Amino acid sequence: FELERLGIHDSVDAVFPPSELDAFLADLPVTVEVVDDDGIDACDAVVTRDYHEALLECAWIHSIQAGIDRFPLDDLEANDVVLTNSTGIHDRTIGETVAGYLLAFSRRLHEHVANQQQRRWDRPEWDEAFTLPGTTACVVGTGTLGRGVAETLGALGVRVTGVRRSTDPVPGFEEIYATDDVHAAIGEADFVVVTVPLTDDTEGLFDAAAFDAMREDAYFVNVARGAVVDEPALIDALESDAIEGAALDVFETEPLPEESPLWDLEEVIVTPHCGAFTRDYFRDVGGIVRENVDRLEAGEAFHNRVV
Ligand code: NAD
Repeated sequence: FELERLGIHDSVDAVFPPSELDAFLADLPVTVEVVDDDGIDACDAVVTRDYHEALLECAWIHSIQAGIDRFPLDDLEANDVVLTNSTGIHDRTIGETVAGYLLAFSRRLHEHVANQQQRRWDRPEWDEAFTLPGTTACVVGTGTLGRGVAETLGALGVRVTGVRRSTDPVPGFEEIYATDDVHAAIGEADFVVVTVPLTDDTEGLFDAAAFDAMREDAYFVNVARGAVVDEPALIDALESDAIEGAALDVFETEPLPEESPLWDLEEVIVTPHCGAFTRDYFRDVGGIVRENVDRLEAGEAFHNRVV
């Protein structure tokens, strides 16, 4: 198709100002403009965070997220719409966010911040604080996020194991387990970190049986998608001390409802789906868009094509 008008849908505003990406892409040989729902119609291609039905009339959609679970893939295919995503850019951001969670738990930083709110000078018990070398993190999903987590935790002295569909080795992971053996893999870890996409296969992968398989002193970390976890089962596991704690960036319902018990549970860190935030986000996404505009002009295949 001929690309004449590239829209930046205003839903990207949840992650960065649309005007920043607009300016970043201003030198492209096509018209680039920020559009709202009504403006989608006039575009051949749209960079977006949210799905909107009008996008079915475009030739190409670029998702500023890695996860494409909110896009109707069959409808896109039936309408000959190309979908590309932003996988490949979240390795360092998510890696550092996960390292931050682990350091908070090991050095008790989340407790100090909570105490500070109440002007309370309260030290941890003598055996609460620990250091990361000698601990094991099992990372479920060895794609961009998983590899970024492995690299960052590896640098902190954490032994990193991985779970993937095949058992072929992956750099940065000391041991690899097949998805069928996920319970054995997570059963020996101090930290379980979820980095798989949400698919029919991974929906509810972390259920009561999985939390049973985890050690009682282990922490659960989810930076993938809420529905990969059976949230009531996670809450049960936390309330019954079947696991030690959790750091959660994603939830079954977002924003996390005010009445969720997760807000108040001890040893639980809640972050509002911002584990990949960085002031460079628009540049990272813009790099992928720019490359694909170049590839389109050269008649080459799209980078990160999903549909
Ligand atoms: P990716 O495609 O690079 O990696 C996903 C990996 O999971 C691949 O290696 C794939 O083979 C593997 N996988 C798929 N199904 C599996 C299964 N059943 N068992 C084991 N492994 C399986 O994607 P990514 O960029 O690493 O992103 C992964 C997911 O993380 C996204 O789909 C998105 O939902 C989520 N994400 C969240 C944030 C955030 O802000 N918290 C940011 C980026 C991505």
